[in-house]
Amino acid sequence: MKTIAAFDRIGEENAFAVLARATALAASGRDIINLGIGQPDFPTPPHIVEAAVKALRDGAHGYTPATGTLACREAVARHTLKTTGIEVSPESVIVVPGGKVTMFSAILMFGEPGAEILYPDPGFPIYRSMIEFTGATPVPVPIREDKGFAFSAEETLSLITPRTRLLILNSPANPTGGVTPADEIAALVKGLDRHPDVAVLSDEIYDHMTYDGARHQSLLAFEAIRDRLIVLNGWSKTFAMTGWRMGWGIWPEGLADRMRKLAVNCWSCVNAPAQVAGAAALDGPFDAVDAMMAAFDRRRRLVVDGLNALPGVSCATPKGAFYAFPNIAGTGFKAKPLAGALLEEAGVALIGGPDFGTLGEGYIRLSYANSEENIERALERIGTFLGKSA
Ligand code: PLP
Repeated sequence: MKTIAAFDRIGEENAFAVLARATALAASGRDIINLGIGQPDFPTPPHIVEAAVKALRDGAHGYTPATGTLACREAVARHTLKTTGIEVSPESVIVVPGGKVTMFSAILMFGEPGAEILYPDPGFPIYRSMIEFTGATPVPVPIREDKGFAFSAEETLSLITPRTRLLILNSPANPTGGVTPADEIAALVKGLDRHPDVAVLSDEIYDHMTYDGARHQSLLAFEAIRDRLIVLNGWSKTFAMTGWRMGWGIWPEGLADRMRKLAVNCWSCVNAPAQVAGAAALDGPFDAVDAMMAAFDRRRRLVVDGLNALPGVSCATPKGAFYAFPNIAGTGFKAKPLAGALLEEAGVALIGGPDFGTLGEGYIRLSYANSEENIERALERIGTFLGKSA
């Protein structure tokens, strides 16, 4: 059946295809170690689960306001103040069914044929997919290993043209684990003075996940762009809540009502008991989150040391998120065939860099959301595979 051309252009996330293949192989009896998936392997902390159960028992069964309950939006505002020192009004907060929905909506608001949208490459694949869906031209902003996988203010600004409508930023970043330093972000914002019609979507979903003293710099700190800044954040990663489908956006006054209307037209509101749980998550305690981050930090060291000991592999130490993005150029393999062979032959699921953009060639992404024991086993298997293929 014929649909609009946009559906011929929409892409997807290969991580889900890898997960499906890994699950099928495991179902057929193979021992598969999954380093492909971008979600914490920890359960949601118990007090958050209990808050949802109680909300269901207490009768949170109906629609809520389209933008989220006031209690949940106030919790987001309190949390934002606590984590960034910046005041946002609960009216600017829009609670959505997953971080992706803020991304989808922002790209839909600015993308159309003739418009250009800048996005990180390598980066989260849905940015480009959604840009193409709208008919806008995707303009990749290179994210380079020799810059510590931070984006460059100078290079980003050099790509802006009179047709640029939206600039997408992501730090801490998927798939590289890169954290862009505050001074680079400040330089970018300063340069944006010359481009007052360019809106900014800052994807800060990994804001809580930094290591080695690296500090996440929220774009919210820059008053000069607040009237054209959309901040994407959510519960999925920090609170191990990917399956709850809970996210929030912080929207400028001039766009918030359009976003509210989109919500009314599409999802009406987010699951009511999940919003109660979301508020409970933000209000703490944070000990389960802290324990999860300590575990990620240990695994991060393990994975980086292990990768650097492999022939032809070199891995920069990621400062954020829960991904390692090793350079595999020295193995003689292209990234996707290597990822495919590691899954089929060595039973290790991970993602080829080109699934995150053309500049991802030469890299693979490993998620260290798996136990130390499994990470060690996976590294051993990769080492054996590379040794055999040398
Ligand atoms: N942004 C980035 C950079 C991500 O990596 C992800 C998920 O992997 C999302 C947004 C979407 O998060 P959610 O599962 O809350 O939709």
